[in-house]
Amino acid sequence: MTNLVLPESLAAARTRLAEALKAAGRPADATRLLAVSKTKPATLIREAWHLGQREFGENYVQEALDKQADLADLELIVWHFIGPLQSNKTRDVAEHFAWVHSVDREKIARRLNDQRPEALGPLNICLQVNISDEPSKSGVSLEALPALAEAVQALPRLRLRGLMAIPAAAEGLDAQRAPFARLRESLEELRTRFPEAALDTLSMGMTADLEAAVLEGATLVRLGTAIFGERNARE
Ligand SMILES: *Cc1c(COP(=O)(O)O)cnc(C)c1O
Repeated sequence: MTNLVLPESLAAARTRLAEALKAAGRPADATRLLAVSKTKPATLIREAWHLGQREFGENYVQEALDKQADLADLELIVWHFIGPLQSNKTRDVAEHFAWVHSVDREKIARRLNDQRPEALGPLNICLQVNISDEPSKSGVSLEALPALAEAVQALPRLRLRGLMAIPAAAEGLDAQRAPFARLRESLEELRTRFPEAALDTLSMGMTADLEAAVLEGATLVRLGTAIFGERNARE
């Protein structure tokens, strides 16, 4: 991945997603590609945009704001915040992103709601689930998920769209599929509970496990390394 050529790696990622969808027997447009650009310079994001990529995922607030300022001229670009979110950063996220995938507690949701500017329309929210039940990992537990969903659903400046997860690393398709299947079932349960909600998003699948996620119904895969190469060191 050292001599990465973005047109080639982005085309390869698109082909990989298209083949995964075909193998899953799903429509070609059933899963969107989110380009995860953390640690990558604005110049590469601009290049990806010129190649037709519109949705980008960032993990670090200040880094993202700096790049957004550089890229303010790019029309129709959609920014997703996918990293851990602390209370003192919620205002920046509420003001500068269209989506947040990493909401895992009510306090953060309330702050995002209160700080979302009226002019921007509701902030799209995915609840991050600790799907492999790892003690020290981010994400709401499956047990606490319904209560959190209910709280978010009641906040007018947020639009609850679905669930996100980062399962524990696993080898082999079957082992990778199991947690994604649990996430899909959890979303189905929430749909039954909240029929009025716009619960249309399963944000799951990364470079290592895209195929398993697509087989289990991912509507958005988050690809970093496959598109931009190995992460750069953060300063
Ligand atoms: C970094 C990151 C990704 C991208 O991971 P790759 O393995 O590089 O594709 C996806 N989702 C989240 C939440 C991330 O932090």
